[in-house]
Amino acid sequence: MRAEFPDFRLGNVLATSFTATLTERHGNAVERIPAPHRLIDWLAVNGLAVDSCTTAQLDLARELRESIHAAATAAAIQDALPASAVQVINDCSAQGRAAATLTPEGERRWQLSSASCVEDALSVIAADAISIIAGERDGKLALCASPTCQAAFFDTSQSRTRKWCDMNTCGNRQKKARFKANQRKNPRSAE
Ligand SMILES: [Zn+2]
Repeated sequence: MRAEFPDFRLGNVLATSFTATLTERHGNAVERIPAPHRLIDWLAVNGLAVDSCTTAQLDLARELRESIHAAATAAAIQDALPASAVQVINDCSAQGRAAATLTPEGERRWQLSSASCVEDALSVIAADAISIIAGERDGKLALCASPTCQAAFFDTSQSRTRKWCDMNTCGNRQKKARFKANQRKNPRSAE
């Protein structure tokens, strides 16, 4: 019987969607790519389809993920970037050979050098992380306000005041907690 695996949390930004494959880092962490085939699934959903993945490639992917998380977190709080994380991101960026191609409909597609080359897919993710950490894109890195999450996310809201990495999960939970706290303080107002 095939075990159930946690769903992916997909956002609009490739690099932070990738770091969101591990959630609740400061609570009960949920690993969303616990096995190579789940990384294959995640890459397919994100336009980086590969046909195989070894456990060593999964390990490399997770190393890149945690390096992006560390560097993006430092950037969000305007701290110095951790040198080891920068090294991993740069190595992954340099290792892969992926080409951006244009479809007849005017959309960008990534073409990997070979369908077994997870490293190519990781290089696209690393380059995406570099562009947001370097401030090349319109938006601002921030940390999720949920104490058990604190994920680095890329805020592209007009006012740059987004508080949560994900409205449907962290945002909703905070709202519910606040509602409950209000109910306790003032039980009649909830009726
Ligand atoms: Zn969050």
